[in-house]
Amino acid sequence: MNIHEYQAKELLANYGIGIPTGYPAMTVDEAVKGAEQLPGPLYVVKAQIHAGGRGKGTFKELGADAKGGVRLAKSIDDVRSDATDMLGNTLVTVQTGDEGKEVNRLYVTDGVDIEKEYYLSMLVDRATGRIAMVVSTEGGMDIETVAHDTPEKITTITVDPAAGFTDADGQKAADALKLSGDLAASCVDLTKKLYEAFVGLDCAMIEINPLVETKDGKLLVLDTKMSFDSNAMFRHPDVEALRDESEEDPMEVEASKYDLAYIKLDGDIGCMVNGAGLAMATMDIIKLNGAFPANFLDVGGGADKEKVTAAFKIILSDPSVKGILVNIFGGIMKCDIIADGIVAAAKEVNLSVPLVVRLEGTNVEKGKDILSNSGLPIVSADNLGDAAKKIVAEVKQAA
Ligand code: ADP
Ligand code: MG
Repeated sequence: MNIHEYQAKELLANYGIGIPTGYPAMTVDEAVKGAEQLPGPLYVVKAQIHAGGRGKGTFKELGADAKGGVRLAKSIDDVRSDATDMLGNTLVTVQTGDEGKEVNRLYVTDGVDIEKEYYLSMLVDRATGRIAMVVSTEGGMDIETVAHDTPEKITTITVDPAAGFTDADGQKAADALKLSGDLAASCVDLTKKLYEAFVGLDCAMIEINPLVETKDGKLLVLDTKMSFDSNAMFRHPDVEALRDESEEDPMEVEASKYDLAYIKLDGDIGCMVNGAGLAMATMDIIKLNGAFPANFLDVGGGADKEKVTAAFKIILSDPSVKGILVNIFGGIMKCDIIADGIVAAAKEVNLSVPLVVRLEGTNVEKGKDILSNSGLPIVSADNLGDAAKKIVAEVKQAA
């Protein structure tokens, strides 16, 4: 789960981390009111969308010369016109894809006199199974580009979970950022608090880009992105409340209501599978047969008719789906029950694309009989390889 920059900054501030003062705004008037509470003379108006690269982004509805989604404003009047420009319009950045994202919230913050920009992030490093901190002197830039062009400018510091975050870890970050004296001490303090926030809030990632050194020698978080371990959100109802569903894929939101693990992908074969491992194998074998999956979908162990129907509807609401492959192992759920669910769901949604079903497990013969006697054009498959070949052939034929 992701949240907006202004929300993430508030959470970090609760842990004692320095941020510039700022106010979220949903309307132009709120943006102006926010700016009036700031000292000035420099204000920054920032589009709040769940994507980075806003500063260099462009608005679809405004001309190519218009400024991006992070704007320095020198007066309250400028704040007003920038807010008017941004709200309701579509911001396209390197991270949003061509369709862009509609801006419905702004953040109006204090303009900061920047001496230098740095990069600092924390994430769960799967390779070591530990929390890692990644720092670079190349702040404000796209970190993927830095990693590609100048990997030596990126330092990774792995935190020992038994010892927790130590001053030595913080000092390593300060050294990598070439900070000394008071700034190094501030860096140790900030990274320690960041680790507390990371663990305390069950984060998956906190990225600060840029972290800045101000002209008066302070470290401040100028931009941050925060994402959380969704499985831990039951422990943090206050964080869960920050969820902005308008920023999420509508199909993924719908799937989460039925407790379906659904991720949209960009191929054209919809997959409905039980178990994440089987779902991965199904996607692999589709690719092996020269096609691409339109989604990852795990209906889970106890898939009933209601879940199967919801899953069909979600798969079919994706206009790029040209065929569906159902691959279900009937273990706890028997194949005949699953077959009943598939037939009922296919009838209910008025299935319009080819459907290949591979069932295996308890009562598989009964299940296959139900499918073949359903009167629906369901193609039955005997094994995973056969299923993949059949759906790829059906989709090609239909094209
Ligand atoms: P994004 O990464 O989405 O483009 P940022 O918040 O990182 O958005 O803003 C881009 C750049 O704008 C920053 O690298 C920084 O140079 C400048 N900037 C952002 N916030 C402020 C601020 N409060 N004061 C001064 N400059 C800022
Ligand atoms: Mg940034």
